[in-house]
Amino acid sequence: MAKGILIGAHESVAGGLFKAFARAEEHGAASIQIFTKNARGWKSKPLTEEDVEAFRAEAARARIPSLSHASYLINLGSEDAGIRAKSLDALEDELLRCDALGVPLLVVHPGTHGVRDRGLALVAEALGEVRRRQPRSPTRILLENTAGQGSSLGCRFEDLAAILDALGRPGWLGVCLDTCHLFASGFDLRTPRGYEETLDRFATLVGLEQVRAFHLNDCKGPLGCRVDRHEDIGKGQLGAKAFEPLVNDGRFAGLPAVLETEEGSQIENLAALRALVH
Ligand SMILES: [Zn+2]
Ligand SMILES: [Zn+2]
Repeated sequence: MAKGILIGAHESVAGGLFKAFARAEEHGAASIQIFTKNARGWKSKPLTEEDVEAFRAEAARARIPSLSHASYLINLGSEDAGIRAKSLDALEDELLRCDALGVPLLVVHPGTHGVRDRGLALVAEALGEVRRRQPRSPTRILLENTAGQGSSLGCRFEDLAAILDALGRPGWLGVCLDTCHLFASGFDLRTPRGYEETLDRFATLVGLEQVRAFHLNDCKGPLGCRVDRHEDIGKGQLGAKAFEPLVNDGRFAGLPAVLETEEGSQIENLAALRALVH
């Protein structure tokens, strides 16, 4: 078992889903995140048997834990019947793709809604419905904390707790914490003390056991900016030092933790993070 988190990266699937593993090895990533379909579209080509076989073979060979990030179009908080139906279908499809590929974790943004409590109830209801359609799916859905842009839900720990509680905190749900989004939504991770205070608050409201993955991103904007813009590690307002407590935190040993910075920046960013590991 690794001493700390598995420092990895989001990797491109250009040329085939299975290619993400070779890219991860080239970049020195110990975990990977992929999109199993176009992240900015509703439609996806069904996976072929060849896609699945090639991916599973590479996963077994490379032994790099993977997670998937769902399409950005999905809005489980939508009040619009059409968007809601499309979002549920799309999440179900994402889940089935993960199941087929053997990807154990699927990250999704909670969604947006102008009225927080109503939105959170809709998100919980939508997740419950997708689970009812696929009750035996082995894939765990992870709610990602958001930057708090516009009317996005999930920037407060109370939001994540409300969704988990509404569903009875089932084993098929969990949380993915994004460092940029934490900082953008007002959690000051720049000092070890700030890191501990943030995690203490998370432990009280949500529970550390709910965390199953991390997104490791520096943040372009200042503390509390509520703008979701990632930056290379050490080049943003968080700074490299902010990542030191997390990469060494034994409580999260073995969890995948992936960069979501520009394609082509992985080697440099992974090196910056690894330099912080004691
Ligand atoms: Zn995300
Ligand atoms: Zn982001």
